[in-house]
Amino acid sequence: MHRGQIAGEIRRIGPEAGFAERIIMLTEHRFIQAMHALRHHRHRAPETPIHEIYQSSTINAVLEGIYDGAMTFGQLKRHGDFGIGTLNALDGEMVGFDGRFWQITSDGSVHAIPDDYRTPFATVLFFKATVGKTIQGPLDYDGLCTLLVNSVESANLFSAIRVDGTFRHVRTRSVPRQTKPYPPLVKITENQPEFDLYDVAGTLAGFRFPDFAEGMNVPGFHLHFLTNDLQAGGHVLALELDHAQLAVDDTSHFHVELPTDESFLAARLGGDRREELNKAEK
Ligand code: ZN
Repeated sequence: MHRGQIAGEIRRIGPEAGFAERIIMLTEHRFIQAMHALRHHRHRAPETPIHEIYQSSTINAVLEGIYDGAMTFGQLKRHGDFGIGTLNALDGEMVGFDGRFWQITSDGSVHAIPDDYRTPFATVLFFKATVGKTIQGPLDYDGLCTLLVNSVESANLFSAIRVDGTFRHVRTRSVPRQTKPYPPLVKITENQPEFDLYDVAGTLAGFRFPDFAEGMNVPGFHLHFLTNDLQAGGHVLALELDHAQLAVDDTSHFHVELPTDESFLAARLGGDRREELNKAEK
């Protein structure tokens, strides 16, 4: 029975049924609204989680020296099994894949990260490769980036990148744990510990963000490394790839969870920080 039929039925009852008619019309109207909402939601089944990149805080907050976060790694793992970032007090580099998250401290050593450790900045997702290919070296960092540019679906999407392989050389860095008051990141990376790893097998994990994501994350490629024997790793500065397997996971969804503590709320996080970012992260 549609709206006209209902109204016709009511009219046949007589004018004294006006109140009942209004109630029925209202009920019917709400039912139609609910059906519209349901149809709209069917485009994305509500029980299917969105395949999204999930991030705690912003890169500009890290540049500004906001190194304490509210989020634990236990909480972070609910949003991804793969990612990169850092730990509270800027205590080293973080890299994660296959559901396990690792800390590379400033002495170059690798540690499994307990679930109750916190992060001030991390980017994760549940990695599901959409592109897979074999890479034959020799290939340096720029060469790899060129190959990756041609492997992602579009420079305007968010891409997670995983490269498992053998490397003639990987130069990484880590950052030392800080004490308050925290200095800005560029002050710390001026004297960052760097590690030259030769003839290693391991995994590169990271992301490519579009230029328009500036301020939220690092525009372009940002990769961290971990050796298969868990002896070394860090934020990648240079490399020479020998032979590897590439996996790319593109997504159009990017979820950011901002801190709500006093240091974040009071910080000045705008402005052009490209130069600062290049010094600290490239
Ligand atoms: Zn990094």
